[in-house]
Amino acid sequence: MTVPTNMHGISTNVMNENGLLLSDVSVASGAYAFLSLINHSCAPNVVRFSKEGEGIMTLFALRPIKKGMQIFDNYGSHHAMEDYSSRQSSLKFQYKFTCVCEACVDKWPTYVQLNMMPTKDLPVKICQKKKSVLNQHAIRQLQNGDVCTALNIYKDLCVLCEQFDKYAPCVELCDCQEALKQCFMIFEGFRTFGSDDVIEWTEITTKTFNGPEIGALNKFFFPQEV
Ligand SMILES: [Zn+2]
Repeated sequence: MTVPTNMHGISTNVMNENGLLLSDVSVASGAYAFLSLINHSCAPNVVRFSKEGEGIMTLFALRPIKKGMQIFDNYGSHHAMEDYSSRQSSLKFQYKFTCVCEACVDKWPTYVQLNMMPTKDLPVKICQKKKSVLNQHAIRQLQNGDVCTALNIYKDLCVLCEQFDKYAPCVELCDCQEALKQCFMIFEGFRTFGSDDVIEWTEITTKTFNGPEIGALNKFFFPQEV
């Protein structure tokens, strides 16, 4: 029981044959003492980040985390993707708990359901900013794993996620969170379709946690208030 509920999967991101970036091809699993203390939410406020071949797991904020607030990871059941009863039964089956996260207590709709509901009265300025940052071209570029696009828009996406958070659940927040997660996938590194290169694992030391772009991400994501 300890292993399936406490180990964390280490995955690599791959592209499919059409050149679209897919995620989560499991390549290993590891025991992370600190991470295994973090509880689940179907509307998590962090996302796990692990550069290919390093095994170091870092958490990045997806939602505002004020001092004293609890950090919530996602164990695989997300409110945008799965409805309430499906999430409850899969979490109960694998992790043996009844989820009482805000998405479950308040019965947040899935992304598809949100799309069918009347649009929320959101500030026009923020919605316009979202439309310009996350335009069709940017979405396509992220799907194609374009590093420049990810670097160009991830800070704007962080700000948008923060601004939309008070209106959660809403389509706009889901879109921005998904795009932000896509940026992280690109920063993690990915394999192109058909690649059979062996992943070279570096020794896990603090020295390996020094990629320039990760340093920049950290600076942005962990301001003093968090
Ligand atoms: Zn839940």
